[in-house]
Amino acid sequence: MKISIIGTGYVGLVSAVGLAELGHQVWAVNRTPAKIEKLKRGELIYYEPGLRPILKRNVKNGRLHFTSNFSEAINHGDFVFICVGTPSRRNGSADLSQVKEVAEQIVSAAKKNLIVIDKSTVPVGTGRLVKKILSRNHHKFEVVSCPEFLREGKAVPDFFHGDRVVVGAEKKEVAQKVIKIFDKLKCVKMITDLETAEMIKYASNAFLATKISFINEIANVCEKLGANVDEVARGMGYDRRINHYFLKAGIGYGGSCFPKDVKALKRIAVDINYNFRLLKAVTEVNNQQRRLAVKKAKELLGDLNHKTIAVLGLAFKDSTDDIRESAAIDIIKWLNQAGAVVKAYDPEAVGNAQSILKNKAKFCDTPYEAVAQSQLLIVATEWPQFKNLDWTRVKRLMKQKNIIDGKNILDRTKMEKLGFKYIGIGR
Ligand code: NAD
Repeated sequence: MKISIIGTGYVGLVSAVGLAELGHQVWAVNRTPAKIEKLKRGELIYYEPGLRPILKRNVKNGRLHFTSNFSEAINHGDFVFICVGTPSRRNGSADLSQVKEVAEQIVSAAKKNLIVIDKSTVPVGTGRLVKKILSRNHHKFEVVSCPEFLREGKAVPDFFHGDRVVVGAEKKEVAQKVIKIFDKLKCVKMITDLETAEMIKYASNAFLATKISFINEIANVCEKLGANVDEVARGMGYDRRINHYFLKAGIGYGGSCFPKDVKALKRIAVDINYNFRLLKAVTEVNNQQRRLAVKKAKELLGDLNHKTIAVLGLAFKDSTDDIRESAAIDIIKWLNQAGAVVKAYDPEAVGNAQSILKNKAKFCDTPYEAVAQSQLLIVATEWPQFKNLDWTRVKRLMKQKNIIDGKNILDRTKMEKLGFKYIGIGR
């Protein structure tokens, strides 16, 4: 099938590469010429494990084409996927300006009938709004919602082995045409109306965020009672109704989706005069959790002024270079405000973090450089390689042997045996 993808960020690029790999002819739009050139050479424009070889293969075999020419791209396809950003506005609502801009561009450029598929996370009613904008072009457009559920860092397996494809449309026959695009994927395919599909995405993310805030509350109670939240979560997760996913206590959720989608759903509720009490608590718990690392640092070191603190991890989670709403970034800002000297390391996200934090931290090439002469080490991202550092070397390099494990990834007994003072979350 002939497919156009508008926006080649985290979602758009994975969708473009994945759909080409499924055998479709894909044209993807990016507005930055330098990025187009990289993509045409089969090079990634952000870090995503496993994506590069599939990108390269499909550029080479001619199924995947990149362009900055919007008109050329949309008139290639019968299906146009909108994969642009929907960031938070000041009042928490989703900023739909990029989605509306794409709709306007389609109005100006479309020379044929199209099925427009929205993959961006958008409030209920956006599909109809897009359809209204598109009605200004004399061609016929169908608008479909096909929310994206991929996780950054695991986007490739999530594309090919996801749990479900949800397609919401006004007409069943249109939804069935869109489902056909994903024919080769062996997962549940679900057809709904437009509004329901839009809501499924928000409800899913809000539920996962709730699960994280719930286990973080349990962690805080465990800490006061002397129970171990990791074991509590393990015991809970064996219950299939609960499962082990998203049941890891720590310094809270971050990233480009959970905080923004929870805010947007809260705002949707406000707009319809519904008091969504649970989501208010979810956000409050998450904000409080994020502050825990600095609170614990002050309990440990007293005044942080002129103290040297190493922060390992800058991305909002492991296996990505995405720092949007990353707890690590806030933690560094707060440590910096308290007068601490911060030395930071991340395997992939240093470049992105540097552009935001500027001189608020010294960015290091290795974790060992970061911990050298520090009085405290804070683990802020769950990169698996942090577990396997040469901890004897870390101990030798640190001035004071203090660890705050904001992601509960280290073995407490091992760290204590090595002579570290170890503080986890709810352990
Ligand atoms: P992103 O910011 O990484 O990518 C969006 C891209 O669209 C940017 O590169 C931007 O330059 C481009 N763009 C904007 N307007 C354009 C236009 N008119 N023409 C061409 N390109 C244009 O965002 P993302 O993380 O890929 O997220 C996209 C959407 O998918 C959001 O609504 C998000 O909530 C949702 N989503 C994201 C994830 C995730 O893990 N990142 C997962 C599921 C859903």
